[in-house]
Amino acid sequence: MKLPFPIADRYNRFNRFLREKFGEKVYRICLDAGFTCPTRDGTLGTKGCVYCNNTSFGEEHRKNLLTIPQQMETGITRLYEKRKIKKYLAYFQSYTNTYSNLKYLEKIYKESLNFPGVVGLLIGTRPDCINNKIINLLQELNKSIFVSLEIGIESVYDKTLKWAERGHNFEQTIQSIKMAKDAGLHVCGHYILGFPTENRHEILSSVDILNNLKIDAIKLHHLHIVKKSKLAEIYLADPFPLFSEQEWIYLICDFLERLNPSIVIQRLVGDAKSDTLISPKWKLGKTQILNRIQATLAERNSYQGKNYNERLK
Ligand code: SF4
Repeated sequence: MKLPFPIADRYNRFNRFLREKFGEKVYRICLDAGFTCPTRDGTLGTKGCVYCNNTSFGEEHRKNLLTIPQQMETGITRLYEKRKIKKYLAYFQSYTNTYSNLKYLEKIYKESLNFPGVVGLLIGTRPDCINNKIINLLQELNKSIFVSLEIGIESVYDKTLKWAERGHNFEQTIQSIKMAKDAGLHVCGHYILGFPTENRHEILSSVDILNNLKIDAIKLHHLHIVKKSKLAEIYLADPFPLFSEQEWIYLICDFLERLNPSIVIQRLVGDAKSDTLISPKWKLGKTQILNRIQATLAERNSYQGKNYNERLK
């Protein structure tokens, strides 16, 4: 099998994808446009998904936000002064970034692109907050700029989505990804491993289902318990096992071996601010974990997709 990445890398890295696509280093500028989510604003709930930090998110937060052009300008200046970066991706990251009316979405997306050096738009959202009109808008923007829709899949199992109080089912995920892919958009799936509702076999079986979704990229996170989430109350009252660093490293290696090698890896470990994290508190930093994943794959003489074709036969 011809791999779409150098074997020494062991998996299909996002940085290499960006360099090949844009010819140089590209950095994301994270934007907060003051969105909310249907699981927060009362439409489907008020406390957010079970694992989400539910810090108050009201008028006060919105009032203090910089405008999108101000956030872009600040981000570009900072990146240029610190690293001489000249190409940027506008990343609508906070909450559900398609959860508003079309006119407002068009306005803020276009505002973010209106700066020299901006080569793409990344938009994080939920499967139930995408519709034809939004896809048409993104398809139009995608004619002149790279557009990636980051969709929160989180689990392929309805029992987990229900437990996590996501407010949507997996069929909605399938349909939203299909809509985006049919429109020619780049799709990155956000996926969480470690829900107490799934055993190891179910987690690894989910890779086949993810392969069939035909996503372009994936972000993998371990389940962590953060303060001010509903899960914190559940966990502290009745703790359940979470992954240790070593378990995570082995699981990710097994996961990658099954994953289609053409899926670009945007993330292999979750991030939580240390002042909000309750558990698991790992001693290794992110870079050390990534190095160990790479070393473990090398020791196994393995790589992303090693078992992908074999398992399709
Ligand atoms: S997990 Fe995502 S969709 Fe759920 S409440 Fe938090 S930001 Fe919103």
